[in-house]
Amino acid sequence: MAIQVQVCETFISIQGESTWAGMPCFFIRLAGCNLHCVYCDTGYAQSGGEPATVSELVEKFRKTGLGLVAVTGGEPLIQPGTTALLQELQSCGTVLIETNGSRDISGIPPAVIAVMDIKCPSSGESEATDWKNMQRLRPRDEVKFVVGGREDYLWASGVMREHDLTKRCQAVLMSPVSDLLAPAELAAWILRDRLPVRLNLQLHKIIWSPTTRGV
Ligand code: SF4
Repeated sequence: MAIQVQVCETFISIQGESTWAGMPCFFIRLAGCNLHCVYCDTGYAQSGGEPATVSELVEKFRKTGLGLVAVTGGEPLIQPGTTALLQELQSCGTVLIETNGSRDISGIPPAVIAVMDIKCPSSGESEATDWKNMQRLRPRDEVKFVVGGREDYLWASGVMREHDLTKRCQAVLMSPVSDLLAPAELAAWILRDRLPVRLNLQLHKIIWSPTTRGV
């Protein structure tokens, strides 16, 4: 039987986060999430969705003519068909998976790039982190902290140091929670501490309205 996944939406947009920010990208947003972050902006993806086969999604990506695809959610790693989807998408381009850090990332195919959140305390979900994932990171993977305030920033800096994250992966990203922390404030902390992270702003929310879906 053809492998299926439950899909919330697919769309073409500018990649808004990670070191791939700014690149045209095909997004496959899978439905369902195991967490409930207080600032979640994709609540509509937490349930429901429509089934699609892996081959249908690969064909959709191929037809876009783009070279970059991001599998996102919700949380993509809660679906058993996700590994097969990642595997097959590789035949058409570079594949990113955006994951919340609570699920084992070791099944992600080697050439697929994980952009892994480490949930800070203000998310309400930092205890859900699977800390063994720090050892599972591969050199091309990226780690992202979404920072809601000073407490989150200090916590994230400590996690970075404790797990030597800058040596473990391609990039460590810090992004302010919109409406909670001004980018200038986060930038000032990073500069003062000479912290080797990338300030990451959600580009798609700057280009379009923060509430616009499918971009
Ligand atoms: S992990 Fe992502 S999709 Fe799930 S609740 Fe948190 S922000 Fe929302």
